[in-house]
Amino acid sequence: MSSRWLVGFLLAGILLWLPASSVAQDTDVTVHVVQRGETLYRIAQQYNLSIDAIASFNNIADPTNIQVGQRLLIPLSGNARSEIPSTHVVQPGETLKRIAAIYNLSMEELASLNSLEDINTIYVGQVLNLAIPIAPTPAPDPTMPIEPTAVAVAKASVETSSTTPFLYTVQGGDTLFRIATRFGLTVNDLARANNVSDPTLIYSGQQLIIPGVKSPELALDLPPSIVSFQVEPLIFVEGETGRFRFTTSEPMSVGGTFLDRGLSVASDQNGMLDTILVGVPVFTEAGIYPLNLTLTNNTGQMTLLNINIQVLSGGYSRETITLASNRTDLLDPTLEAAEQSLLQGIMGNFSPTRYFDGPMSLPAAASISSPFGRKRSYNGGPFDRFHAGTDFAGAPGTPVLASAPGYVVFADRLDVRGNATIIDHGWGVYTGYWHQTQQYVKVGDFVNTEQVIGTIGSTGRVTGPHLHWELWVNGVAVDPMQWVQESFS
Ligand SMILES: [Zn+2]
Repeated sequence: MSSRWLVGFLLAGILLWLPASSVAQDTDVTVHVVQRGETLYRIAQQYNLSIDAIASFNNIADPTNIQVGQRLLIPLSGNARSEIPSTHVVQPGETLKRIAAIYNLSMEELASLNSLEDINTIYVGQVLNLAIPIAPTPAPDPTMPIEPTAVAVAKASVETSSTTPFLYTVQGGDTLFRIATRFGLTVNDLARANNVSDPTLIYSGQQLIIPGVKSPELALDLPPSIVSFQVEPLIFVEGETGRFRFTTSEPMSVGGTFLDRGLSVASDQNGMLDTILVGVPVFTEAGIYPLNLTLTNNTGQMTLLNINIQVLSGGYSRETITLASNRTDLLDPTLEAAEQSLLQGIMGNFSPTRYFDGPMSLPAAASISSPFGRKRSYNGGPFDRFHAGTDFAGAPGTPVLASAPGYVVFADRLDVRGNATIIDHGWGVYTGYWHQTQQYVKVGDFVNTEQVIGTIGSTGRVTGPHLHWELWVNGVAVDPMQWVQESFS
């Protein structure tokens, strides 16, 4: 899954328009960034191509497996070639002014095409419409001289290029510098086109897009001290994890806020590659939220960066839970508040060393009985609680497994959560395992992935045996199953 992150998207959202005059043969291509909900079938339809044509052009073995944010090279046929891209996906650091300039539109035109009232509210991942509507042609009046009517989509004048983008497969012994030199590019061009944040981290077999257009207009409006900036995924979701990763031109100390929370920053040894993991709390309203970062260099010079991020609803279902009158102890607000603040005090911390690597493994060989995020109402009350973890229905005695390496920072009995173990995986990532019968580890132990740390039970306030598995990021409980499928290392 890490290749998904490595294959980035800085250039990605920009649909390159290659003028028909530049290359006469049939290899003109455009770049399409896969959007949420798209399938290869739909994309193929959009470009009037077959699925096979796109799959083979991009060396896709399994056409059902495409990822949001993945860039596809789309071969353009002769008649499609003269078209101007109809949309632009906003990238981190882009401003409306900059985007308008790429397509030779005025900022006002672009704003009105997209009914934007405030030019500062565009957000990363937003799809902007570029097509100028065609004015209806009036019926010709033979008595009047013919006036030219409004010309549609005729304004784009993106630079011509002598080559078209193509895919290159990294060979053993290649470096980004070598590849860049071979194709007459700079390392920066290549790193930016592929959103490679660390140019030393390319691997044999990786596919790089060799950009055909060396256009300064593709540069983003990032401050000069920020070399690249990634937002993954482009659009965040309530209850899920997102990642900001950026490289700076000199060592910087970074602070920031998102969703009214302070951010913790994981920095590499020379302080030039920074990663921020954020959990989007359940109950965050869908909308646009600013990420505010302050970067300070060694001489105290500060750079401020503000990027708008869209948050979508997690679409969690609702459930009404009716507790028998003799079990209203499950709702004791004082007990619950005390435990919650105890958890916050442990899982809200940040260890600068990362112990996890790649996706997490499941905490038990058992089926899921209740997913994360369901909004709950107890005994007819408001839906103001949610299921903060994923439940596994294992028989009592089923082994509980550590999901990733880390240090045990809590192993004790709690009133509500029963026998509970918490593992610190570094970078502000913690997993919790509640309601166990046996606990085989103690605070200070270092555990490895799939190490047996206890057994499934029904301790604490539960109605039957199960493992409740929780994952916290930057002090926020998020859907742990996202971490089973994706890598945030
Ligand atoms: Zn649960």
